[in-house]
Amino acid sequence: MAPSLEDDWVPPRAAVSTGELPSGADIETALAEAYEHCGPITDGNVADYIPALAAVDPSSFGIAVASSRGGLWTAGDAYSEFSIQSISKPFVFALVCEAIGHDAARRKLGVNATGLAFNSVMAIELNDQRTMNPMVNAGAIAATSLIPGVDADEQWSNIVAGLSSFAGRPLTMDEEVYRSEAATNLRNQGIAHLLDGYGFLYADPDESTDVYTKQCSLRVSSVDLAVMGATLADGGVNPRTGQQVVTAVTAKRTLAVLATAGLYETSGDWLFDIGLPGKSGVSGGIVTVSPGKGGLGVWSPPLDSAGNSVRGQLVTRYLSDALGLNLFASVPLN
Ligand code: GLN
Repeated sequence: MAPSLEDDWVPPRAAVSTGELPSGADIETALAEAYEHCGPITDGNVADYIPALAAVDPSSFGIAVASSRGGLWTAGDAYSEFSIQSISKPFVFALVCEAIGHDAARRKLGVNATGLAFNSVMAIELNDQRTMNPMVNAGAIAATSLIPGVDADEQWSNIVAGLSSFAGRPLTMDEEVYRSEAATNLRNQGIAHLLDGYGFLYADPDESTDVYTKQCSLRVSSVDLAVMGATLADGGVNPRTGQQVVTAVTAKRTLAVLATAGLYETSGDWLFDIGLPGKSGVSGGIVTVSPGKGGLGVWSPPLDSAGNSVRGQLVTRYLSDALGLNLFASVPLN
């Protein structure tokens, strides 16, 4: 772990990197173009290791952009709902940072990439920091175990309340997806027990896996993802409701972990192409955050071999360039 400043260290001067999205009309045009351009892409396969996910319509395609000033633009099935899956991970990590501080969260969960699949057991065995980071299943189940609550029910209520505040509306669970994954998640149970054996799980392993499986089954739309992303882009304030959901420091640290590990073993390729923190999930959603500017939510179920939406990545790349969002770009594209 790198040497760190005290948790409450305040710089003598603080600057925020901001900038504006293009005009609403330009965003609308870019969205329509992105939708049309990426519409014909059908590559990838729908996840089937969770039986209920295999039943989805692979042609579903939604896009939404939410600005940190409260604007919202959509294309396609932007209001259709799907289970959030791994995209719950950054938001639960943010809640953990709020509860125990980001330095303690880093110590207990890690913030470095694994270079291995999201449900890798080998990553736990290979690294002394067993959980590695909160964006892979090991670190995510450990993060869930750190959520405050006297028991698993209270932890679950706190997660629902927290993620609903990020979305700006009450989120509910997809019972069918939950039951389907709960009946088949021996691997995640195994990961939780392995972590427990290494002293890297902070509550009962079976209960933590169950709460984690529930959090993955929360229903969201592309619009919800965009607003959740915009909340992280806006210093932790939900730009639609005005609620301060987490502190600006928590939002900043969460985005750093996303940049490192949001797309698992292909996080480097993602950052190379898109230049923004993002998080994918096996139901085909991706949330992307443009710090200071806004959030992007996309949904297209067919996945690549790492479990990331194929069309979702391409449409995000299109929009990152078209809207001038790439954090590493220092000159205009044209
Ligand atoms: N619930 C899924 C799992 O734990 C989430 C994984 C994902 O979206 N990549 O396997």
